[in-house]
Amino acid sequence: MAEGARIIDGKAFAAGLRARIADAVPAFEAATGRAPGLAVVLVGNDPASAVYVGSKGKATVAAGMASFEHRLPATATQAEVEALLRQLNTDAAVDGILLQLPLPGHLDEQAAVAVIDPDKDVDGLTPVSAGRLALGIAGMVPCTPYGCLLLLQDRLGDLSGKDAIVVGRSILVGKPMGQLLLGANCTVTMAHSRTKDLPALVRRADIVVAAVGRAEMVKGDWIKPGAIVIDVGINRLPAVQGETKGRLVGDVDYAEAAAVADAITPVPGGVGPMTIACLLRNTLVAAHRRAGLADPEGF
Ligand code: NDP
Repeated sequence: MAEGARIIDGKAFAAGLRARIADAVPAFEAATGRAPGLAVVLVGNDPASAVYVGSKGKATVAAGMASFEHRLPATATQAEVEALLRQLNTDAAVDGILLQLPLPGHLDEQAAVAVIDPDKDVDGLTPVSAGRLALGIAGMVPCTPYGCLLLLQDRLGDLSGKDAIVVGRSILVGKPMGQLLLGANCTVTMAHSRTKDLPALVRRADIVVAAVGRAEMVKGDWIKPGAIVIDVGINRLPAVQGETKGRLVGDVDYAEAAAVADAITPVPGGVGPMTIACLLRNTLVAAHRRAGLADPEGF
């Protein structure tokens, strides 16, 4: 690894953020007589989704917040899912609503997400939240890109004038990441599967955010010396001899990029832990706004 190249420890940063959130909960309770509440809706029996929902519930309780878990069968109808979301919209104890995706194939995800009250949209996925982000109006920002922004600001401070490239333009990660970087006064390039000469564009960037879903696609010789690399990708390689499961890797060739970059997030332990921490952050902020309180400081 080149001198100065550092690992951005998302796990430690997320633990600190979660501790600060837990510290802020008692003041909210003192002001309102209740803890902030997060409702998570799981439809069907997808094992990975069930694990995510379980970890979100545990993290919510660990932060001193109220966790409400709602499970609907895989056979639930669109009307049943939307009825539950509407009920949570009107539930005063619920500040944040998260609809765990993906939904079973017969359901319309976009239509279901759009039912969520934007002020409780802690995943930041409703059309109103996306619009607020684009317009620069206070709203709920998707957790993973917000976590990436926090890691970048922690490393660099002010991001003004930096050349940033976001590789990937998904609704969940790439697009909101681009908006956040633009909001932080970066000059932003959005790259995707039709982008021409991606390596040359990446080579110009001070900040590289990779959110593609292709194992180790971004190579070390694409990285400008001294750049900051944020690797959102989570890809499992095929198991090799002696392994029961293949290794988890990001979208960036870590060893190569770490030899050139100023700092880089590892996979796992980089961006991943920030997602749940930012979900709790969004729930805390949503609770304050719904109660008519000023946003908690330092988040
Ligand atoms: P999507 O599959 O929704 O989007 C992938 C994006 O990458 C698309 O915009 C696609 O372009 C682009 N892309 C595909 N191939 C190329 C290529 N060869 N060159 C340039 N761009 C390309 O993925 P997500 O955004 O949901 O997730 C991306 C990765 O991040 C995944 O590995 C996922 O597991 C991980 N992830 C991690 C999270 C975490 O907590 N750490 C949370 C969410 C996701 P186009 O639009 O043209 O098709």
